[in-house]
Amino acid sequence: MRALRLTGWGTPPELTEVPTPEPGPGQVLVRIAGAGACHSDIHLMDWTAEEAPPAIAPPFTLGHENTGTIAALGAGVSGWSEGDPVAVYGPWGCGRCRPCRLSAENLCERTGELGGLGGGLGFDGGMADYELVPDQRLLVPLGDLDPVAAAPLTDAGLTPYHAIKAALPLLVPGSTAVAIGVGGLGHMAVQILRELSPARIVAVDTTEEKLTHAKQLGADAAVLSNDEAAPAIRELTRGVGAELVVDLVGAQPTVELAGAVVRSGGHIAVVGIGGGAVPVGFGLLPYDATIAGPYWGSAVELREVLALAAAGRLRADVERFALDDVMTAYEKMRAGRLVGRAVITP
Ligand code: NAD
Ligand code: ZN
Ligand code: ZN
Repeated sequence: MRALRLTGWGTPPELTEVPTPEPGPGQVLVRIAGAGACHSDIHLMDWTAEEAPPAIAPPFTLGHENTGTIAALGAGVSGWSEGDPVAVYGPWGCGRCRPCRLSAENLCERTGELGGLGGGLGFDGGMADYELVPDQRLLVPLGDLDPVAAAPLTDAGLTPYHAIKAALPLLVPGSTAVAIGVGGLGHMAVQILRELSPARIVAVDTTEEKLTHAKQLGADAAVLSNDEAAPAIRELTRGVGAELVVDLVGAQPTVELAGAVVRSGGHIAVVGIGGGAVPVGFGLLPYDATIAGPYWGSAVELREVLALAAAGRLRADVERFALDDVMTAYEKMRAGRLVGRAVITP
């Protein structure tokens, strides 16, 4: 089969021919329908060995946002049939610790001992014709969802869902939520805010095209990301600031913007892996403001995201690319020219 392999840090990935895996006991082979291209893949391609998270080591196949149909079941796997449409839950934990038993494998206590964070993140992922999933507990039924359009729900949908759900008590009527960076994750964040809260939604990005897209998806206001963004957002909030700021870029200018527009008692979720930092300490942020760096989400939350999509209330806007054209998708993302999510259809 074909697979997009990251063979070392700081080198571009290669589309190569590898043996199609055979599922061992307890494992499941998934024929990939859709593999979302995440900006984290670009970080993976760019990181030096020093910058890369120690829990991940090449070589491995990229692609951590995957859907497909069951191609083969390993010995002892029951309750599933060949052909079943599935989403692959992406963070692969030990399956035994307390967070894993609560379905929050994103917070597994044994991360670091396992050899990777998930398929496409240390283990072989879904930018390939097939993905080997190590355990059926990592599969979620897709139902009638379009398997290609559903792929981004597993990360671009789940990650902002997890970040926003934690802050919902702040989002009372009259409140404001700011989404910085309305790309793959951010265009889902706008919809999740629209569906889960009465907050007024402010989208921030660098191009009018992205802001128009965010408005079509439910943003009430849109602000270009520049020096005037903070005063503009403060003015929109009567000078008080926003109850929630979800930073889906995480670069220095965007975390500084988040710090400048969060209100007292508000919350900043830094989702983007842009390396930015804000100082934390008494008086450095507005009183009682909290800040978190949320990572992905739980398998139960993924079911909730899929249910929201099945109800027609959340959708990924996707541009489809053949596996042979995968690098075109990443180049478009790098240039900021993708609207929504690129999904590879092997
Ligand atoms: P993307 O490229 O699809 O979207 C990023 C968006 O941010 C684009 O629309 C871009 O125009 C915009 N942007 C860039 N610089 C900006 C700035 N200075 N101000 C405002 N907007 C700006 O990327 P994505 O796949 O949505 O990923 C977003 C980030 O989230 C990446 O850093 C990715 O690695 C990270 N991520 C984190 C998690 C997690 O669990 N924490 C999960 C998935 C992705
Ligand atoms: Zn991702
Ligand atoms: Zn665990």
